[in-house]
Amino acid sequence: RSDDNSSGEEEAVRVVVRVRPLAPGGDQCAGRAWRVSPEQNSIIEIPGARNNQSYATPSRTYRGLGDTEFIYDKVFGEDANTCEIYDAVVSDLVESLTEEGINGTVFTYGQTCSGKTFTMQGCDSNESCVGIVQLAAKDIFQYIKDDDSNSECSVRVSYVEIYNEELRDLLNDNSRKSSTSLIIREDKRGIIAVDGLKEVAVKSLEQLVDVFRVGEKNKSVGSTKMNNRSSRSHAILKIMLEKRTMLNAEDKENFADKNSASDDLVVKTSSVLNLVDLAGSESVRHTGASGMQKKEGGMINQSLLTLSKVLMSLGQKNPGHVNYRDSKLTRILKPSLCGNARMAVICCVSPSGKYVEETRSTLQFATRAK
Ligand code: ADP
Ligand code: MG
Repeated sequence: RSDDNSSGEEEAVRVVVRVRPLAPGGDQCAGRAWRVSPEQNSIIEIPGARNNQSYATPSRTYRGLGDTEFIYDKVFGEDANTCEIYDAVVSDLVESLTEEGINGTVFTYGQTCSGKTFTMQGCDSNESCVGIVQLAAKDIFQYIKDDDSNSECSVRVSYVEIYNEELRDLLNDNSRKSSTSLIIREDKRGIIAVDGLKEVAVKSLEQLVDVFRVGEKNKSVGSTKMNNRSSRSHAILKIMLEKRTMLNAEDKENFADKNSASDDLVVKTSSVLNLVDLAGSESVRHTGASGMQKKEGGMINQSLLTLSKVLMSLGQKNPGHVNYRDSKLTRILKPSLCGNARMAVICCVSPSGKYVEETRSTLQFATRAK
């Protein structure tokens, strides 16, 4: 990460905030507690707005009142659409992936109902309302179509869910229903793989979206309104791009293995884009959960805490020791969270007075991650 962007150096982690519109019902009744200034890239808490309906419309400027203004790389207000967010924070990660083979990861972070899934997937009811998944896939396949180098590209996807620190393959029915978690293995070279995880080859945007929908359908199995498992699990869609480049004689000269028997030496590179819809960040202490919910909450807190430590360490010259093994999430993402990998965190919040604590907590996460 570089604070001085004019150097042309790409920062490792980009953190932005997206404020969703007030939802009809309780959200609206509680009124707006935050004022967004997209020009200043800031979000400001309206003093005393909590449960105070007179602040329902953000008509006054409260800047300068002290400690409640949060400033980020970019803040997107209620009328921003996902394409704008994609263009501003994700598209150049996709470009690094396709052009340079650099791994990238995009997270949506926030409490339940803050718009994480909306941002990642769009909404089913409206076809023009697309998410990061479709937009990234579109750019990847466009790159492949336009690529006129002598390389051959192929794309595979996997889709995994982490619930209570257990891994399930969303593209494999049996795994989803099984009571045993998939196992993460790390070989001597440090290469991390999930045993038996299904990887599906896709040849077009449409095929990729179809596979993703199959995973989404599997995700909703066993998830009722009362037991909304999907809001308490992390979902990782991994898009793998493999390039096979045929070297011509001249390139071959520059290669170490000049004595290769084969005439056309093939160089394989693979890179990964992870699109991660994180579990709801609301903590258990607010809901007074007990039993199973408390366990879930504890596991979510642990993995989000480890993630924030990892993100924090990335920009530091002398980062303290970060234990990726502290959570399954950071463990399986490790290859895409270190080295020259790039990340974007889209922190989703509600402007409602009903969720002031949760919004503050998400903004604090965003501040730490940066
Ligand atoms: P989360 O995944 O964080 O739990 P969702 O993405 O499912 O939350 O959002 C909850 C509801 O709010 C959904 O019905 C979704 O369509 C709607 N919603 C979220 N963000 C927006 C937005 N920016 N614009 C319009 N509707 C939104
Ligand atoms: Mg969701």
